[in-house]
Amino acid sequence: MKKNQSTVLRSAILVASVVGLSACVSNPTLGTLAGKGGASENKMGAATDFLKAATVSDEEVKSSALQFREFDDKRSKIAPPNSKYAQRLARLTAKHVNEDGMKLNFKVILSDQVNANATADGSVRVYSGLMDLMTDSELLGVIGHEIGHVKLGHTLSQTRAALLASATRKAAAASSGKAAALADSELGGFGEKLFNSQFSQSSETESDDYGLAFMKKYHYDVRGLESAFRKLAANSGKSGTLDQMLSSHPDPGKRADRMREMANK
Ligand SMILES: [Zn+2]
Repeated sequence: MKKNQSTVLRSAILVASVVGLSACVSNPTLGTLAGKGGASENKMGAATDFLKAATVSDEEVKSSALQFREFDDKRSKIAPPNSKYAQRLARLTAKHVNEDGMKLNFKVILSDQVNANATADGSVRVYSGLMDLMTDSELLGVIGHEIGHVKLGHTLSQTRAALLASATRKAAAASSGKAAALADSELGGFGEKLFNSQFSQSSETESDDYGLAFMKKYHYDVRGLESAFRKLAANSGKSGTLDQMLSSHPDPGKRADRMREMANK
């Protein structure tokens, strides 16, 4: 009985989550974290949550990100290790699992979406739709960009905000400072907040710079990022967006131009 209820609940959450994501693609303004509650939000509640923000340690945030990632991997179609996608990504990322002081892991999500994302626990996920579109150099550029979001703390701030904006935080707070084990229902809501939010334009620019420096550091083809952005510009009408950035950030063509200038420096 209990199991059935939880299955039903989980299905409902998955549907809600998918709706949330597609709504975000068509209307990126829905994604702002603070705006969800609007004027009707209980001000005392918001103030209390704000005070709690100071007590959320980086470790707690990372632990919540890891819990979410494990949950999301289970509901996503992760490419099995023997698939051509997984093998290609493993070949490209083998020397980056310990990168710039971080422990990273890389997996492919089997989906037509032209997309990639990273979470604060150091997980990078690349969609097979993106891999079909990109050369190895272009993919490495995108991977460098995603690593930048982790290294530069963008994913940490994003996760902290999502944690505070969801009921998840209340569950976590109940357990004396350590991140509580979260139920699937809580992780579903948390994931919606996380993936509906967007990095700021300045965060994207910083990650572009990090990605370019990454290409130079490993002597990869520095034109990879430029041509990745050209392809994203040409495919911007297709489903999926690279960590949501194409839906809100005006012109991948301009980013490509910038990457070309920096590659030539
Ligand atoms: Zn990005």
